[in-house]
Amino acid sequence: MEIRTIRGVEDIIPPESEKFEKIVETFKSVVRLYGFKKVILPTFEDVTLFTRSVGETTDIVQKEMYIFEDRGGRKIALRPEGTASAVRAYIQHGVHAKEPFTKWFYIGPMFRYERPQAGRNRQFYQAGCEIFGIANPGIDAELIKMAETILKKLNIKYTLEINSIGCEKCRPDYKKKLIEYLSSKRESLCEDCKNRLERNPLRVLDCKNENCKKVAENAPFITDYLCNECKTHFEKVREILESLNVNFSVNPFMVRGLDYYTKTVFEFKSKELGAQSTVLAGGRYDNLIKELGGPKTPALGFAMGIERVMLLLKNNEKNRSGVFIATFGEKAYTEGLKIAEILREKGIYTEIDHRQGSFKSQFKTANRLNMRYVIIIGDEEVENGFYSFKCLETGKQEKIESLAELIARI
Ligand SMILES: [Zn+2]
Ligand SMILES: [Zn+2]
Repeated sequence: MEIRTIRGVEDIIPPESEKFEKIVETFKSVVRLYGFKKVILPTFEDVTLFTRSVGETTDIVQKEMYIFEDRGGRKIALRPEGTASAVRAYIQHGVHAKEPFTKWFYIGPMFRYERPQAGRNRQFYQAGCEIFGIANPGIDAELIKMAETILKKLNIKYTLEINSIGCEKCRPDYKKKLIEYLSSKRESLCEDCKNRLERNPLRVLDCKNENCKKVAENAPFITDYLCNECKTHFEKVREILESLNVNFSVNPFMVRGLDYYTKTVFEFKSKELGAQSTVLAGGRYDNLIKELGGPKTPALGFAMGIERVMLLLKNNEKNRSGVFIATFGEKAYTEGLKIAEILREKGIYTEIDHRQGSFKSQFKTANRLNMRYVIIIGDEEVENGFYSFKCLETGKQEKIESLAELIARI
């Protein structure tokens, strides 16, 4: 029997994996400019970490988490997201006592048992950032700007939506008003929303059901109920975003699917992705560190879905690069191997045809590999001490006398 990947899990093989690498490298190159350092976290944790952070009533915890008992009888969860583990590590290692503020990034697989579709796997990859210890709204704007820069560098088209979902002071008031309103429309809501109405009414606002959407349209806006602190914070974030030339719209229905958010939340979306339109999303979570047993510490972060960005990366980026060495005859092959090593020492990507096929087949390989140059070495070349050198971009071929000149050309 042929063994295949299980449902919702995918291999990413070349050339697709090249896109993956490109995204990760771009992400890293940008976040390092802002001082983020890599944190490497485990993929499984005590299940309590997620029930307490992501939230008992969220879809993630109720329906989507992979939970199992290990051989020691511990209840384990495969991580459904990265923030909870980062916060746990921050508290566990007493980082707050060592640094006034902390900037971490992580890259790795997350796990959610959802219905698989384009841009949604059960094992999926996220690149994320977390900032601990800064309450100033300027950092919210800077984080959003940084996220925008990553997407721009990858040539991805997006729209940015932001919102404020208040804090522990103003949200309870709003929740009460919202429950009042939703209860009056209870009969129009879907079954899920009827169930979440009391416990998690904010989630009704971003339900995908058409009837729920209609009900949500006339719901009270959180932004009208923000306390002074949250209001000023949100104003400042918008003001700085504008001064940094970031285009955004305020979406008062955006609440995010996790309980830990406070104040600023944001989502970068792409129309090209269909239903799974969120490419990168995050927000502030000023209470989470305290709730997980640490000292009260303001925090914020975001995560980017790598597979979703991969879907948006265009296939047309095919710049030719590198040198292909085509050889004919044993002497030429040995000479070719030596030259290949010299070129690689100079940092030049070099391939040589070890199968020593025909002239035609070697050029075919060079083209398939998208090489830029071909060095042709045959008996004549070895005997008379020159190289035939062809640029596959221009089609121009010439004789070159020395290796030094050859390297200079490349
Ligand atoms: Zn507030
Ligand atoms: Zn609904």
